[in-house]
Amino acid sequence: MNDVLLLLSWYQKNKRVLPWRKDKNPYHIWISEIMLQQTRIEAVIPYYERFMKRIPDVNALATIDEDELLKLWEGLGYYNRARNLKKAAQIIMSEYQGTFPTTYEEIMRLPGIGEYTASAIASICFHEATPTIDGNVLRVYTRLKEDKRNVDLNQTKKEIREEISQIIPLESGDFNEALMELGETICLPNGEPKCNMCPLSHLCKAYLHQSWDKFPVKAEKRSKKELFYTVFLFYYQNQVAIRKRDDKGLLKNLWEFPNELGKMGIADVKKYLKQHQIYFSSVKKGISYKHVFTHQIWYMQSFQIELTSVINDFKWVSIEEIEEKYAIPGAFEPFLKQFKHNIK
Ligand code: SF4
Repeated sequence: MNDVLLLLSWYQKNKRVLPWRKDKNPYHIWISEIMLQQTRIEAVIPYYERFMKRIPDVNALATIDEDELLKLWEGLGYYNRARNLKKAAQIIMSEYQGTFPTTYEEIMRLPGIGEYTASAIASICFHEATPTIDGNVLRVYTRLKEDKRNVDLNQTKKEIREEISQIIPLESGDFNEALMELGETICLPNGEPKCNMCPLSHLCKAYLHQSWDKFPVKAEKRSKKELFYTVFLFYYQNQVAIRKRDDKGLLKNLWEFPNELGKMGIADVKKYLKQHQIYFSSVKKGISYKHVFTHQIWYMQSFQIELTSVINDFKWVSIEEIEEKYAIPGAFEPFLKQFKHNIK
């Protein structure tokens, strides 16, 4: 049996049962692939199932209210991905009469869809011979060959994509999924790969030389920008204050607890409240939390502040309303939990 057939046969026997693998519906593959960017499969499954229950097809996605969409996306982060899903669905409705485009080139033109996702959809659903190049595939490929090219470079990804497209078989979707599955379950990123269970170990140079920990070769990571925030958990009776972020930049248009850039102690907070004529009956130091984004780290210190009346600058809602309607990004989630615990 040749090596590609070995890989395909291993995949048929070992593939995991996943909700989006029940059929080859491009809508299902698309939504799952976008959710899987930066999130583990086990964590994505409940989000995927909830999403499909509420938004079962392209038409429903094209017409859903943005706040409701963001609420469904809450916890997955990267909210622009959800917004792009809706934009792409609207294009599919208006330009393709609601039928998902069938070629890699057309799929690539939809907002929020890059080479990887377009290849996944085109190969899995429409048998187009387009390789999917993700971290799993790069790891397997570079270990097999002890390939020392820097995989963080677009040029390297382009070259590897070209090389794999020379060997991709007619069963392109299964081939792509097999390579990714091998990377996720056998050729592991952290810790020792399970080479004794790998269908390709007989041709793997990293296995032969026990050099798997040297591949893939990556660029040095750039350090992230560090920012300090003071978060104000204003409450009055059973209402808490939230506000909508700007429509530009990180976490745009999402809801957050009011906050200011910079570190404050309890005396600074009281001074700040006085300066802004915010009348309070108590101020308590709350939890601190560190949130790591792709390019930034936020160090956040909260203060629970009971006011003597509501103030108009914010939206006042109950904890239940936040949980039902308002998308609070992960950076503010621990404060919501704290609030829930303390003011009920
Ligand atoms: S033999 Fe080991 S290192 Fe090589 S591809 Fe398989 S799991 Fe990865």
